[in-house]
Amino acid sequence: MINNVKSIDPTLIVGGGPAGASCAWKLASAGIPCILIDRAEFPRDKVCGGALSARAADILITSGILSTSELEELTLKEQRTLSLWDREELLRTYISQDSPVRIISRRQFDSVLLEKASAAGAFIITGDTVVSIDSSSVTTSSGEQISFASLVGADGCNSIVRELVSDRRSRGTGLGLEYFIPLTELNEVPDGLQIHFGHIPYGYIWVFPDGEKVNIGAGAVGSPASPSDITEALNGFLETRGISCAEYKLKGAPIPSLSLNRNLGRGNIYLAGDAAGLVDQVSGEGIGHAVESGFLVADCIIGGGDRGTFLNRKDCCINIVRQSMFYRHLLFSPLAHGTAMMGLRDNEEFARGYWNIISGRESYNEMFRRLLT
Ligand SMILES: Cc1cc2nc3c(=O)[nH]c(=O)nc-3n(C[C@H](O)[C@H](O)[C@H](O)COP(=O)(O)OP(=O)(O)OC[C@H]3O[C@@H](n4cnc5c(N)ncnc54)[C@H](O)[C@@H]3O)c2cc1C
Repeated sequence: MINNVKSIDPTLIVGGGPAGASCAWKLASAGIPCILIDRAEFPRDKVCGGALSARAADILITSGILSTSELEELTLKEQRTLSLWDREELLRTYISQDSPVRIISRRQFDSVLLEKASAAGAFIITGDTVVSIDSSSVTTSSGEQISFASLVGADGCNSIVRELVSDRRSRGTGLGLEYFIPLTELNEVPDGLQIHFGHIPYGYIWVFPDGEKVNIGAGAVGSPASPSDITEALNGFLETRGISCAEYKLKGAPIPSLSLNRNLGRGNIYLAGDAAGLVDQVSGEGIGHAVESGFLVADCIIGGGDRGTFLNRKDCCINIVRQSMFYRHLLFSPLAHGTAMMGLRDNEEFARGYWNIISGRESYNEMFRRLLT
């Protein structure tokens, strides 16, 4: 029995992605008994563009979960060039002198973080799914019953833990789709990151090369577009570039949409990462927010359940996602979209602001304050 492993009830973390692994690493490093359970066997794939912001890189390194050289090893490609497009019009290419956006493989990245949690002393169970939860224990698909003192839902967009603290699941309407295509198959190798607006309402198509292949995907949150509209837009985009989609595997996953849980749960039930709705509603960034929120939840538990001290920081990921829920209308709403595209085309500072958002160097409020003064 798992509960014989520790004499007192542990913190139980459901999900071993970046949110769960970071939380487990921090708790175990502080000597708090914790068990992490994930339905997958690792290494596992995760549908994701794999763009890691400079802000996320700082969080990983300053926390100590990864050293600079470990992060470098995980980095497939550093990108400092961003091309912004409105349908077929190239608006602007922005080259940053600042720290890069890194392209990582989620398969590798997530495994390394989970190994870190295990090395710090977290008890890791993989290949078992949490199927039901009561006030003090969970039951898994293998029939195991595990008691907990605190429960952390780091179980992604369709979180089962989230149901305990909210009547609405974090299903959202968001969807992300992706193809991986070898660079050798492209007529033109992209020079840096590309964002293509105008193909999907409240969403965009991205082109993220990692040195050997390119992740071309489409995502939208809070969008009137249906999954088939998004698929059609992405396939059309590829076909126009001479790429036959039929030759590649299309993968998809939900993205939390307008479902931010600002308190990261309630009582001894905590939420982190996608389970808490922590995906930027403009850029789609979620990896860094998952790691940061995993640490925040660990801080709250180490601090005896005190959420107030840790969650109210102005620069924390909760606040960034909250701002993105407002600012997304300035970029995507039919009324503002044309002006936003003109701004990106005609104003270098606007384009710099967009880079700063995706690299996490400025918050939305800071960017707009700077542009307006
Ligand atoms: C197409 C797409 C592209 C994206 N691109 C980017 C990008 O380029 N950059 C970026 O920053 N973000 C991106 N994101 C968002 C990012 O992938 C997520 O925000 C991030 O993975 C969240 O991490 P997490 O740890 O919260 O959840 P996850 O990484 O989803 O991990 C959740 C874990 O929980 C496990 N689990 C779920 N339910 C159970 C259960 N009942 N029992 C046991 N285990 C369970 C799963 O197996 C999984 O391992 C993208 C998302 C999509 C869909």
